[in-house]
Parts: sequence; structure tokens; C-alpha cells
Amino acid sequence: MKKVYLSAILLAVCGIVNGQKIDPVATELWEPVPPVVTPGENGAPPSDAIVLFDGKNLDMWESERGGPARWEVKDGILTIVPGSGGIKTKKTFGDCQLHIEWRSPEKVEGDGQNRGNSGVFLQGRYEIQVLDCYNNKTYSNGQTGSVYKQHIPLVNACRKPGEWQTYDIIYTAPRFGESGRVVIPAYVTVIHNGVLIQNHVPIWGTIQFIGLPKYQVHNLKEPLLLQDHNCPVSFRNIWIREL
Ligand code: MG
Repeated sequence: MKKVYLSAILLAVCGIVNGQKIDPVATELWEPVPPVVTPGENGAPPSDAIVLFDGKNLDMWESERGGPARWEVKDGILTIVPGSGGIKTKKTFGDCQLHIEWRSPEKVEGDGQNRGNSGVFLQGRYEIQVLDCYNNKTYSNGQTGSVYKQHIPLVNACRKPGEWQTYDIIYTAPRFGESGRVVIPAYVTVIHNGVLIQNHVPIWGTIQFIGLPKYQVHNLKEPLLLQDHNCPVSFRNIWIREL
């Protein structure tokens, strides 16, 4: 048995399969050539990214209630003004890679879901929870990095309140059939502070606070939304790559 196996390896190395000599070039693909992208340093956007917030202004955003985004931009940092409503991108997105940095307030106030709560709402409806879960107990499927009330994160990779944290999110939008029924669900992968916390999980539908999620038909591209949950969470360095 071992002898047969070794012979097969030797024949393959010599390019001989089923008695025929084959050329290794036959399995080389030269097209398409992947485009060149210059990577950014230390979380800076790669050359093909769309920068959504670079510390200067909210030109790429508007209020979810209509009109200009009302969050504070100061010293290169974007901070939620509690009660002003969420903000959403003017541009719409489908499949994407998103980088976003966030910081819960250094002064700890509230507990459970009321401590540093915000959220990254992919396509305005699928929430990756932003929460201060450093020594803060809450339901597991609502903690930091959960797909809210759908998927518990694999681990809790939270930094202390007041420290900057990163989400790198890879998202595939759902595909709907002609009848409006979902044919392929959305999928999401989330890396929190360099640690994988959601590994290509299927999204079950629009996030629901009460009851079970279900899909509601929407466009292939929709705005990205950041949640106002009455906590002054801050953000910086937000960029997205369309896939
Ligand atoms: Mg939230």
C-alpha cells in the first residue's frame, strides 16, 4: 500500500498522470490579474477604500431622521450626541469590507445594555453590536460583537472603556428572488481588535428587539447606519471597500 502511494507521488512529481505526461503549465491561470491595491499602515485605508470618516467632517453622512448628521466632530473624533438620532451614509453599499474604530466613554455609566451602546447597522438593518462589555454582564447574544439577538460572539475581546477598539467586518448582502423571498441570506465575519469573533455566520433577517428576525426585501445596496443608543460613544477612521 505504502509502495503504491509513493509511486503515485513520484509519477505526479514527474507530471505523469494515468500514463500520460502532462505539462504543469496546463493548470496555471494568468487571467484575470488581480488589481493592485496599496495597503494602508496601522489601520489606515488601503488605496481602493472609500473613506467614510477621516476626522474632518460628516460630508459622507446624514441623519437617519433626514437632514444633516448631528453628531459632534472634534479633534478628529466623531461622538454621538445622545438623542440626536443615528447617522447613515449618503452612499449605499452591498458586499463590503468595513473598518471602523470605536471607543466607549472612559467614565463608566450605566450597566448591561446601557453602557456604551451603539451599533454598526449593515445595510441599515443588520446590527453588529457596539457595547462596553469590559466587566459588564448582559445577555450573550446582545454583547459586544454579537449579531444582535442572532449570533453570540466566539469570544469577548473587549478593551477597557476609554480605549480605542477596532471592528473589521466582511459582509455579503442577502439576495432576494423575484417573489421577494430571500434566496441567499446575508453572511458576516467580524474581527474585533484583531480577534475573530464572528466566522461567516448567516444573518437570519432584520434585527428585532422583540420577537424573531425575518427578512424584508430591500435593495442590493443600502446605507450603512451607526446607532444612537443614548450613549456618547466615539468613532474614528471609518473606511469601506466595495466587493
Ligand atoms: Mg446597539
